Amino acid sequence: TVAGGATVAIQANGFPYLDADLPLAERVSDLLGRMSLAEKVGQMTQAERANVAATPGRVASLGLGSLLSGGGSTPTPNTPEAWADMVDGFQTQSLSTRLSIPLLYGVDSVHGHGNLVGATVFPHNIGLGAMRDPALVEEVAHVTAAETRATGPQWSFAPCICVARDLRWGRTYESFGEDPALVVLNETAIDGLQGPRRSELDQPDRVLASVKHFAGDGGTEFGSSTTGEYTIDQGVAVTSRRDFERLHLSPYVPAVREYRAGTVMPSYSSVDWTENGVGDPLKMHAHTELITGWLKGQQDFDGFVISDYNAIEQIPGDYPTQVRTSVNAGVDMFMEPNTPDPFIATLMGEVGAGRVPMARIDDAVRRILQQKLELGLFERPYTDRAGQADIGSAEHRAVAREAVAKSQVLLRNTGDVLPLAKDANVYLAGRAADNIGIQAGGWTVTWQGQPVKDLIPGTTIRAGIEDVAPDAQVTFSEDASAPTDGADVGVVVVGETPYSEGYGDVGGPGWPWDPSDGGVPREPNKQLTLTPGDQAVVDTVCSAIERCVVLVVSGRPNVVADPYGQVDALVASWLPGSEGAGVADVLFGDAPFTGRLGQTWPRTQDQEPINVGDAEYDPELPFGWGLRTDSALDRLEALRAELESSRDRAVRRAVGDIDQALARGDWTETGEVGNERAVLRTLARAANRLDGSDAVTWQQMNTLTSVLRDLAQQRVVDAGTDAPEGWAADLADAEHALLVGEYGFAADLLVRVASARAS
Ligand code: BGC
Repeated sequence: TVAGGATVAIQANGFPYLDADLPLAERVSDLLGRMSLAEKVGQMTQAERANVAATPGRVASLGLGSLLSGGGSTPTPNTPEAWADMVDGFQTQSLSTRLSIPLLYGVDSVHGHGNLVGATVFPHNIGLGAMRDPALVEEVAHVTAAETRATGPQWSFAPCICVARDLRWGRTYESFGEDPALVVLNETAIDGLQGPRRSELDQPDRVLASVKHFAGDGGTEFGSSTTGEYTIDQGVAVTSRRDFERLHLSPYVPAVREYRAGTVMPSYSSVDWTENGVGDPLKMHAHTELITGWLKGQQDFDGFVISDYNAIEQIPGDYPTQVRTSVNAGVDMFMEPNTPDPFIATLMGEVGAGRVPMARIDDAVRRILQQKLELGLFERPYTDRAGQADIGSAEHRAVAREAVAKSQVLLRNTGDVLPLAKDANVYLAGRAADNIGIQAGGWTVTWQGQPVKDLIPGTTIRAGIEDVAPDAQVTFSEDASAPTDGADVGVVVVGETPYSEGYGDVGGPGWPWDPSDGGVPREPNKQLTLTPGDQAVVDTVCSAIERCVVLVVSGRPNVVADPYGQVDALVASWLPGSEGAGVADVLFGDAPFTGRLGQTWPRTQDQEPINVGDAEYDPELPFGWGLRTDSALDRLEALRAELESSRDRAVRRAVGDIDQALARGDWTETGEVGNERAVLRTLARAANRLDGSDAVTWQQMNTLTSVLRDLAQQRVVDAGTDAPEGWAADLADAEHALLVGEYGFAADLLVRVASARAS
């Protein structure tokens, strides 16, 4: 028996697959040629760490290709060292097998290395999507990769590139937004994890990515759930093939072709093409046409497909049928967390009986080995722990704090109540104000997350406020027991109790799945409103204190009732993670509010599903909405400075337009612009000139159109119930147009809303 990496290297000396100087394809072929069927099937198997840990030597005896720590499956103690010791221990087992094929270890680092206490925990994707800052998303993912890899796992089941189309879906928070173009904008996360175009997988600060859940996870429909009533997790997308491609497959094209995501995870959900006559849904894990035909065939996906947790068991039929169907559909590795032995035996049986072709097995194993080689695991199978020193470091937390600040969406700001004065007398209330577990949401330490005040190190929103505004007088009462009108302002922080999957815990306490009933979805209280308790705190504080700010800490828009117009400012804080100070930064004006909705904010839950592009679109607030507290003048001047030196003809003319707009407007620091019409006209002209130009970046166009958006949104706010007809659809369509690079059209729509006063 071989115990350690060094001995293994000597033993295997001379085999071409271990020769780092040979091309990867040659190494893969050499290794594949030496493998038995059992060894191949072992490589296709992924088990749960907690399952194999119980029996010494199990990783080696089964010849497992991979392990995962599903949510909450952490070592004890939960420290970077313990993680690395655990992963390396399993690695030693793998290296002791006949061919010393290294183990691949996967975790759900979906918002930082959330399983690790002490890691930097970032906003969930819905918050990142609100930033409209793909470069920062890449940085967030890079930090996540570094903190993960330094503790052992070389693979994260992220990013979710789902397009959540119905807020009742319990995993909406894992989506960057409802528009596929917004999801694509944020696929820079893949580069952050893997290095640019999967070029740095062998580096100690990168991990293999897994785009998920392929496809249509965010498109499961009302009416097609098991209860027959509500959209649920793991349901059915009933849709035309065309809409499915447009909405749900399209993000996979750049993810695979451009960013080169190394793995793809199919969805638990099913798809039911309306063309075929509804009623015959097919599980994605059985979808040969989409996995083998579309993904691997048409899109040339060269990585491997990893099944979701126990997902093949949802395919109709007995276990051999489930295994055979999914392998033949194109799934390469199987997350069979607690049943690796029956999986291996069954698959070998199916191959032996000729029902799974050997060529399919070889293709799967080839793909898996290719990624292991790209990760450099054959050369450096053990964890490089140097990066552990930076886990949860001030630098990493600063990245998270910036992301938190940029993700905050200011929905309403009557009387410019925000930002608050640094010496304000603040009455702070609500169960999410001082609770880092609620801030972090699901996939934090445990699978579902926990509403625990000090679940992980970091700052709560309350601690952040005390840090950012030490001169403020803050009176805190979680349940608003003694609200006082002595205070200058009431700040109420409420939201959703953490959840990861299922329906999500909207409107009621407890978990979406009751553990005592064996994981059967319990009847949920599916209301996209605040809980009665939270709403009562809002009502109490906002009726007692003249000026009132409400922050909603949640995985999706929640309707806040305000029949008496007592809520002056409303903020969507999403699930910010460990750095609550980022919320305080925008509250007190150290950073401006710049975030924009990636999900339509409905008037009531009954409007769901409601999305940008709908024929009927009358939401509370549209996709793309977000008030700003920074100066439009500053933004425009900064943009001008960036573009000034360009020699591009269109850019030079646009700079001229910007100059005119700057000269004609009567700009004030608070964002007001006198002589609006002249300003609008000239800025729209600039946007039209730059339409389709390669000389400007998306971010620059975002800045330019954001000034027009300010004016349009202000117009809507000023007009109140007299807002111009179709304003919400225009604003949402403008956002979509911007995302797909139709800058001129975006500008024209914004101008239409902003200048409606004239009509
Ligand atoms: C989820 C996946 C996750 C997997 C592993 C499943 O329940 O659907 O998103 O990657 O568990 O934890």
